[in-house]
Amino acid sequence: MHPALCPMLDRAAYIGGLDGVSSLKGAKAVGVKPTGTMPHALIIAFEDQVKAWEAFDEVMAPDVPRIALVDTYSDEKMEAIMAAEALKDRLDGVRLDTPGSRKGDFAEIIREVRWELDIRGFQHVKILVSGGLDEKRIRVLSEAGADAFGVGTAVSNAPTLNFAMDIVELEGRLTAKRGKLGGKKQVWRCPKCLVDTVLPFKALPPQCPTCRSKTEPMLKPLVKEGEIVAKLPKPKEIREYVLKQVERLSVEDISH
Ligand SMILES: [Zn+2]
Repeated sequence: MHPALCPMLDRAAYIGGLDGVSSLKGAKAVGVKPTGTMPHALIIAFEDQVKAWEAFDEVMAPDVPRIALVDTYSDEKMEAIMAAEALKDRLDGVRLDTPGSRKGDFAEIIREVRWELDIRGFQHVKILVSGGLDEKRIRVLSEAGADAFGVGTAVSNAPTLNFAMDIVELEGRLTAKRGKLGGKKQVWRCPKCLVDTVLPFKALPPQCPTCRSKTEPMLKPLVKEGEIVAKLPKPKEIREYVLKQVERLSVEDISH
């Protein structure tokens, strides 16, 4: 990806509900600390998983979570046990980033790793997964016991929303082109079911067609005669607003 796009993508991912971002500029744009975990390159540079995990633990600042990547050379279960036995209480989590060709039944692998960690007394060790994840896979893997998810492609190449801007009214005259509805409009949203009703701007507020609740107008002036007239929310505030709405949606809603 073009580096200049990273901050914008990170910002969009963060306000869309993701917990953390990894690019330095993206984190700055959002106003959070950048986060990430060790790459396979670290393990490969050491040619030894345990040495790499121990070196990471030795040099990283104490507030950086100790998350061991456990799928480089050997089986995920074996490496997860090795990491837990090497770092013990200091290990915060293991990350499984297994390539598709080796995944098998990934949910079963996660159940097995969870079991083997628990039975050895490492209940505190979280399981992070990454690689080719989308919202449907996340549900399955979450049920299997995964605690956190690294998502790249499904976010950076998310399906597009098609939209266009049209002049529909000019100095009070109706001017919409063919295929478009004339006149300035208001969008009324039901705060409970998030259903929108579009009406001519001066029409009376409608009831929600689904639950009959009072609806709220969505359009607010942002720019007037070239000047920004609204107080723009911070990324963190936008994210909270998004998450409040996402709670009311199902995975099927989000995918459509
Ligand atoms: Zn409603």
